Amino acid sequence: MTQPTANCPNCGAKIIFRWSSSVQTVCQYCKSILVRTDIDLKKVGQVADLPPNSSPIQIGTESIYNRQAFVAVG
Ligand SMILES: [Zn+2]
Repeated sequence: MTQPTANCPNCGAKIIFRWSSSVQTVCQYCKSILVRTDIDLKKVGQVADLPPNSSPIQIGTESIYNRQAFVAVG
């Protein structure tokens, strides 16, 4: 499976969408919230800095809920 990539419109970092059907992701470098449209990315906001240990679930955690596999992405 290929992962679509693009460049962050805010900082220029490489963005990798986890799934080809993903339409939203967060830049790992500048924390911009990015939405993919047909041809480009739009910055729609910014993720606030979170206090350390605010959640017991780490980003990237993979699990299954109601027989549905998921990955915590934000
Ligand atoms: Zn960025």
